[in-house]
Amino acid sequence: MVEGVDFDDEAEAVIVSVRPNARARGRCGRCGRRSPRYDRGEPGRRRWRALDLGSTKVFLEAEAPRVRCRDHGPTVAVVPWARHGAGHTRDFDDQAAWLAVHVSKSAVVDLLRVAWRTVGAIVARVSTDIDASVDRLDGLVRIGIDEISYKRGHRYLTVVVDHDTGRLVWAAPGRDDATLNRFFDELGDQRAAKITHVSADMAGWIARVVATRAPAAVRCADPFHVVAWATEALDVERRRAWNQASGRRRTDPVTGRAAMAVGDAKALKRSRYALWKNPENLTERQQAKLDWIAKTDPRLWRAYLLKEGLRYAFTVKGEAGKEALDHWISWARRCRIPAFVDLQRRIVKHRSAINATLDSGLSNGLVESTNTKIRVLTRIAFGFHGPEPLIALALLALGGHCPPLPGRK
Ligand SMILES: [Zn+2]
Repeated sequence: MVEGVDFDDEAEAVIVSVRPNARARGRCGRCGRRSPRYDRGEPGRRRWRALDLGSTKVFLEAEAPRVRCRDHGPTVAVVPWARHGAGHTRDFDDQAAWLAVHVSKSAVVDLLRVAWRTVGAIVARVSTDIDASVDRLDGLVRIGIDEISYKRGHRYLTVVVDHDTGRLVWAAPGRDDATLNRFFDELGDQRAAKITHVSADMAGWIARVVATRAPAAVRCADPFHVVAWATEALDVERRRAWNQASGRRRTDPVTGRAAMAVGDAKALKRSRYALWKNPENLTERQQAKLDWIAKTDPRLWRAYLLKEGLRYAFTVKGEAGKEALDHWISWARRCRIPAFVDLQRRIVKHRSAINATLDSGLSNGLVESTNTKIRVLTRIAFGFHGPEPLIALALLALGGHCPPLPGRK
């Protein structure tokens, strides 16, 4: 109920005095249970930042009395316009969360006139709210488990994606048995029994936990990681080529600065992205770079073809994929490029998990794009306080339940 509207000259803001109606009054802020009044709460009236009126800031102002909840003791009472403990209204929170998912970090900060760290706290409480009404772990059949570094100094998140919806469904700090066991605790044995496929990289801890907690599931090699192995092997070859190339300059003995490479070395140095990228995404210049490599360094060119050949097996999948992989293995075994001979041994060692991937038809594109998106989010979330806001932002952006803008459905 609106009691009055005023303009605060000092704050240069519109202040709307409000109070909850009788039905909303006297409820515990944490559980919503109707409870007897405890006291007036902190002295004075409280303000909540609301959506701007044009360019003018707006605050709701009200008493914030405490109630005595049977479960939670003295607790600030529910206010229908804001989440418990928040300094912003629900609409403000939802708009901030929507913007954090859809526009750039600086646009959010400039438009809303709040600190980025505040956006992190808002995103975290909006996500918690969604978790209270949505069970993200319902109906999982084929999942992918991955670890993602989110901060220097070996800080990792364990993430779980649903291969059938493409959604991120779970994430937590840490990468060990205990972390993954928490996921299976939340999932419960009944739902774990319904999981048919689990894709992951070859990390021992994931295999261990999955074997005990989802024993019926087929373990698949995450295609994204297998292709990444090939990219690593290719990079070893690129460095070898660079070391042998003419025009390579060592550190200047006088200034101690690295000298610019010229000639072949320079061209090789700049070919990195052309070699990494999927051929269908190459720019004209990158394509020209590859053509140049094909002519000047046949060995590096063969390494490139080996990488692409492995990727091809995952593109065609099924029996054709397995056949392509057989050809690839015999080709790589005889290629006389040490990095790829080693890769071939690794592929053979994990062949059954890779075959399971090819049979299940798991899309590499999906795993790769989710992985890439989370990595981008870890950079955006830099400046948030701790890993929880990052997890919340990732779940909002990739979990499929981001609230709409206030007033839109
Ligand atoms: Zn309560």
